[in-house]
Amino acid sequence: MVGNVPVGGDAPISVQTMTNTLTTDVEATVAQIAQAAAAGADIVRVSVPSIDAAEAFGQIVKRVEVPVVADIHFDYRIALRVADLGAACLRINPGNIGSEERVRAVVDAARDHGIPIRIGVNGGSLEKDLLEKYGEPTPEALRESAMRHVAYLEKFDFPDFKVSVKASDLFLTVNAYRLLAREIEQPLHLGITEAGGLRAGSIKSAIGLGIMLSEGIGDTIRVSLAADPVEEVKAGFDILKSLGLRSRGINFIACPTCSRREYDVIGTVAELEKRLADITMPLDVAVIGCVVNGPGECISADIGVAGAKHKCGYYENGQRVDRLDNERIVDLLEEKIRARVAYLKEHPEAGRAFAV
Ligand code: SF4
Repeated sequence: MVGNVPVGGDAPISVQTMTNTLTTDVEATVAQIAQAAAAGADIVRVSVPSIDAAEAFGQIVKRVEVPVVADIHFDYRIALRVADLGAACLRINPGNIGSEERVRAVVDAARDHGIPIRIGVNGGSLEKDLLEKYGEPTPEALRESAMRHVAYLEKFDFPDFKVSVKASDLFLTVNAYRLLAREIEQPLHLGITEAGGLRAGSIKSAIGLGIMLSEGIGDTIRVSLAADPVEEVKAGFDILKSLGLRSRGINFIACPTCSRREYDVIGTVAELEKRLADITMPLDVAVIGCVVNGPGECISADIGVAGAKHKCGYYENGQRVDRLDNERIVDLLEEKIRARVAYLKEHPEAGRAFAV
């Protein structure tokens, strides 16, 4: 458990992000965590580089609902402090803390507070001797580094941990996780580190995480983007939605359009994505440009519009029930979707006709 969020086993794959504010700026960090949580983040990580940041961390966790992981490097005193102040998990590599007494102190603090530890191995900060042994970061080197840290926790009889072995190279990362998945039963935290900016980073992460998740590897994910944490959360959910592993909010099924389109499909989807970002109920909405694929897609969605001259065919639960004026399609569709969501909230027994 990371706070109230189960990780591993049959639990849903959780979506994480990390703040990029100064942790000592409590207001900014609380605001960013709230935005990430509103976008659906199950868990948020905050880096704690100093004792001052640890004190700020204590104030931050009191003001947010979502469980917060403290990210600590090297200084075991910071780990002890944030464990006291309400961290839901410690991300710290035991092998980097120093003496055995220090490792024991951190493990004892985690045990006393009932919080897990995440071991986070990163291709960019592999131990020197492993780089010498393997020549460069390899899957075997990442695996060996992770298992060293695991050995510390096992020595202190602390099984409540999860592990990540991230690298910016996709195949290096995937192969390292594959090795680790064969070896330990603890949950794996997946990510392609330093994946890049919003577009390229999302695609790279989707491919890497998609390969692993489709093989049944991974329990919690973070999409690392040089972008707003909210974008990381959205990308995380889009990956899980695409794999049919989790759903949240509206899943648009939209055609790419061509000269047969009868209305502005691209503009309609872009505007609806913005307007309906507050909806968390899973709903499949088909927005299709013409009758070539329109009716077929609409009958297998919760709501759909299929383009036709002047007025689109409007479908609900697989039935064509109305026609909507092409000129007013965005406003009309927003009204219909909100009405459907409100109805399903009132009548949960009605369910979704074609829920995935
Ligand atoms: Fe073109 Fe119609 Fe296909 Fe959309 S559904 S891409 S408008 S043919």
